[in-house]
Amino acid sequence: MTSGMTDDRTDDLTHQPQRESLCRAVAELGAQGWCQGTGGNFSVTLSQDPLRLLCTRSGVDKRRLGPADLMLIGPAGEAAPGETGKPSAEAALHSRIVELTGAASVLHVHSVANTLLSEHFVREGGFALRGYEMLKGLRGVETHESAVFVPILANSQDIPSLSEEVTKLHAAHSDLWGFLLSGHGLYTWGSSLEEAKRHVEIFEFLFECTARRTPFRPFVG
Ligand SMILES: [Zn+2]
Repeated sequence: MTSGMTDDRTDDLTHQPQRESLCRAVAELGAQGWCQGTGGNFSVTLSQDPLRLLCTRSGVDKRRLGPADLMLIGPAGEAAPGETGKPSAEAALHSRIVELTGAASVLHVHSVANTLLSEHFVREGGFALRGYEMLKGLRGVETHESAVFVPILANSQDIPSLSEEVTKLHAAHSDLWGFLLSGHGLYTWGSSLEEAKRHVEIFEFLFECTARRTPFRPFVG
């Protein structure tokens, strides 16, 4: 499935370098199988005041993202003035995360490992990653002996209430670099697009390790 958008509009687009960088990063994440179907949402921050993000449009296959498949959104995840088309329902979460953290990029992926773990540990409110060398790929983690807690929020289609939950999480965990939505996926971010992408790769590597050693309960509906 493609967006139906063609590159003949590309010459008119603003922020072309940022669009191209985000498309390249998302294509690499998609190649790992982390945005199957039209799963995932991705953004880069253009300005903090007023808050403007370049964010993936709704319903686009992220593995074949083109510059015209990104749109400008504002503080409530709404289409910025002059934009056409519909933002993703989850765009408001991107805006909230940027408001809270000052992130330069917010990346959201659906993987098999993050979906299984987020469902399995939701009652505990999260789980810890510890003892892995790869933890040092997360900003601020200096040693594999660190424990990094990954909070899990119940999944919801009510994005304003999820945004409030994210605000509470941020207040409770000042060193937070990501969280999971149960049965849904990972949100992570960084102080640059490169750092945010590295955080996806590190989290997903560690989720894969954790999932392979977790005795999952049979699904009983
Ligand atoms: Zn999602």
